[in-house]
Amino acid sequence: MEEQKNEQVPAGPNNFIRTIVAEDLKAGRNEGRLMTRFPPEPNGYLHIGHAKSICLNFGLAQEFGGVCNLRFDDTNPTKEEQEYVDSIMEDVRWLGFDWEDRLYYASDYFEQLYEFAVLLIKKGLAFVCDLTFEEMREYRGTLTEPGRESPYRNRSVEENLDLFARMRAGEFADGSRTLRAKIDMSSGNINMRDPVMYRIKKESHHRTGDAWCIYPMYDYAHGQSDSIEGVTHSICTTEYEDHRPLYDWYLDALGICHPRQYEFARLNLSHTVLSKRKLLKLVQEGRVRGWNDPRMPTIAGFRRRGFTPASIRNFCERIGVAKRESIVDLGLLEFCVREDLNRASPRVMAVLRPLKVVITNYPEGQAEQLDAVNNPEDPDAGTRQVPFSRELYIESDDFMEDPPKQFFRLAPGREVRLRYAYFVKCEEVIKNPETGVIAELRCTYDPATRGGNAPDGRKVKATLHWVAADTAIQSEVRLYDTLFAAGNPNDTAEGQDFTDLLNPKSLEIIADARVEPSLAEAAPGSRFQFERLGYFCVDTVDSVPGRLVFNRTVTLKDEWAKLQGKGREKTG
Ligand code: ATP
Ligand code: MG
Repeated sequence: MEEQKNEQVPAGPNNFIRTIVAEDLKAGRNEGRLMTRFPPEPNGYLHIGHAKSICLNFGLAQEFGGVCNLRFDDTNPTKEEQEYVDSIMEDVRWLGFDWEDRLYYASDYFEQLYEFAVLLIKKGLAFVCDLTFEEMREYRGTLTEPGRESPYRNRSVEENLDLFARMRAGEFADGSRTLRAKIDMSSGNINMRDPVMYRIKKESHHRTGDAWCIYPMYDYAHGQSDSIEGVTHSICTTEYEDHRPLYDWYLDALGICHPRQYEFARLNLSHTVLSKRKLLKLVQEGRVRGWNDPRMPTIAGFRRRGFTPASIRNFCERIGVAKRESIVDLGLLEFCVREDLNRASPRVMAVLRPLKVVITNYPEGQAEQLDAVNNPEDPDAGTRQVPFSRELYIESDDFMEDPPKQFFRLAPGREVRLRYAYFVKCEEVIKNPETGVIAELRCTYDPATRGGNAPDGRKVKATLHWVAADTAIQSEVRLYDTLFAAGNPNDTAEGQDFTDLLNPKSLEIIADARVEPSLAEAAPGSRFQFERLGYFCVDTVDSVPGRLVFNRTVTLKDEWAKLQGKGREKTG
């Protein structure tokens, strides 16, 4: 994961693909053109692994003055939907990338791909096969044994052309016939053993409707789609390395423009699953509240959670691009989010678990406005006013009746600072007579400490956040923990499903939090630091005027930086 410095190429994230691109351009290959593409299949929402691929493909194009296409690889009508197409476009844009007028669909190439197939038949390089899928599997052989040739392999060109045309015309039942490439049933690479190019599927496609009842296989469509667009560098993940000889074979057999494919290791993230099949299962079984649940590793989930596009791009840059797979710690992603939010988020005060405090020597009915700094990281952010009055709320766990030695916050007889306000001293603890639970604290304040400093120079050991009881806004706050308790939820024991490894405490809802009144008009999606508590954003789905709902984006505590020996962020 370490970034290497290479003096020959301009500044930017270095990785082996970048080096290849730089060298190709320098040598004037592809007529000096650079064209990459991001080719999602619209069968789910994009996740953080896709973000790695997006940042790489669009990032290279941006850096080297090339272009990057968005192409939907929509060759499988069964699993694909318009909802996914729309979400993918929204997410790529949100990440900060632009395909301009180069939005493509593999389904736009169905006619061209069909003609290519006819050409391969005419060259004697493809045939219609009547084996069922089960029979084909038997004929295919194994890693150690060669396969057997299909009895239909030596059909004449004329018969193949006729049968293929009739497949297209809908004369045959689903699964009864396929078009296969005629390559080598004894190849050591199973992908080369006469792979299927077309299958019959009498299903409507989300774009082509009922125009087709034969659909190209991904492995047949993908390389040709790249070629049609004139892609120069076809970048994909390492599971396609073994498919590359097949892609090369098709392009060479057709004699068309030949993009080069380069493979990189897919991203794996701790406490996270990144398989669309598994994410879909979580959604379908109601384990999460949809694809954009803030606990999901989807772009839509992270966006709703309050992550910024810059923090995700930054993360992708830091993890780099390599050939070997590894599991990246979720803490690194959170570190990038904190780093960005720390710079830009306004600070506000909110109390998650309110404990009432009555300032007995503060006149009843009196109120005042105190100056509070909006963002100490940003001198231009200025100040705002927060109201102070006789009744306040502080955080329950900032008080202990019988504190241990290391607890420096409020306790009976002890004085602390209320941020931007006054020194207050706890004089009395009032309990519910029936339950014995602490109901409120009676405190006194020192009017001479306005703004938070004592003119006589006396010190306090803690500064607490607070809100004024009469003006604070009751809000819902959602706290998130990792969706999976296990570090690697893909690593299941026998008889175990990955859903068994879900974290039962991944969501905690606090219905009765109180936030300062400046948040009354906070727009959905806006981000804040709640002092001492973390970064929060206004939920874009459930928050409505009069009923604010906040998501905790990340805590302030920085485990990852601590692990890296970089020291913690101050938590106040
Ligand atoms: P899944 O395996 O979860 O179904 P996929 O790879 O089939 O995902 P696609 O829609 O085909 O999903 O992916 C589009 C692009 O994103 C591909 O080029 C793929 O290589 C890349 N991609 C998918 N997952 C990751 C990942 N975890 N890390 C990096 N790139 C990824
Ligand atoms: Mg894929």
